[in-house]
Amino acid sequence: MPDTIELLSEHPWAAIVSMAVFVFGACIGSFLNVCIYRIPLDLSLSKPRRSFCPHCEKQIAWYDNVPILSFLLLRARCRHCGASIRLRYMVVEALTGLLFMLVWLKFMPLGGRMFLGLSPVSDIALVPVYWLAVGGLILGTFVDFEHLIIPDRVTLGGIGAGLLLSFAVPALHGVEHRAHAFGLALIGAATGWGLLWAIAGFGRFLFKKEAMGFGDVKLMGAIGAFFGWQGVGAAIMLSSFAGSLAGLALIATGRGKMGSRIPFGPYLALAALVWMFWGPTLRDAYLNLFALPVMPL
Ligand SMILES: [Zn+2]
Repeated sequence: MPDTIELLSEHPWAAIVSMAVFVFGACIGSFLNVCIYRIPLDLSLSKPRRSFCPHCEKQIAWYDNVPILSFLLLRARCRHCGASIRLRYMVVEALTGLLFMLVWLKFMPLGGRMFLGLSPVSDIALVPVYWLAVGGLILGTFVDFEHLIIPDRVTLGGIGAGLLLSFAVPALHGVEHRAHAFGLALIGAATGWGLLWAIAGFGRFLFKKEAMGFGDVKLMGAIGAFFGWQGVGAAIMLSSFAGSLAGLALIATGRGKMGSRIPFGPYLALAALVWMFWGPTLRDAYLNLFALPVMPL
């Protein structure tokens, strides 16, 4: 951390741009909060234009709708009726801001050094593509937490967006030709969908009940369209690792029991993000793990 502060103070211009990206991300997070609330309830995203308090239904003025700050200034209470505002609103804004900034820092190293060991990208067109992926994954995660579903707009929409963007920005798959990238996105989507569909079927056979929702299968298709079959493989490994840790913690603290339904989407999303930020670094570390025993002395 002191290293980071030193790095930022040595590059004030980069620090200012990064802060601006954070603020932009927090504003997108504010919009994601609207989506998280409205999409599962089938409410329109555009009407009413202004946000309203779900308790007293009064419109929220712009000065009470500033990302992160308003939540803190209002002490998490509605100005009109005093109903408490859920912490989730601020968490989503801060998280989106932070992740947007990390995406930006993948493109812009500070003084030639990569922040937090992020794997660098060379094509600036990847920045908005990754921002879109971040937005979709946050949206899917928080809807899944609250409703145990992942909206089709995120999953099927994500597959469509992933295919189109692979064609538009082939660097997403590390290749030059559009058709090549599109093909890799198709293979990734099919691998993700197919593998998770098989895992879900196996789970149903094993536990004699629905262990994994179909939303997770579709989400994995979207992850494959964006990050290819390697991303799918990494996401399955990382998410099952994170999911088992969390599941064991829940069982150990007596808050869950074997085979109880936990939302798996958030783990898939987390795994996809880890792959997006640190993929090549992780892949090399993983390969080294297996290369060691056969290395000549
Ligand atoms: Zn209110």
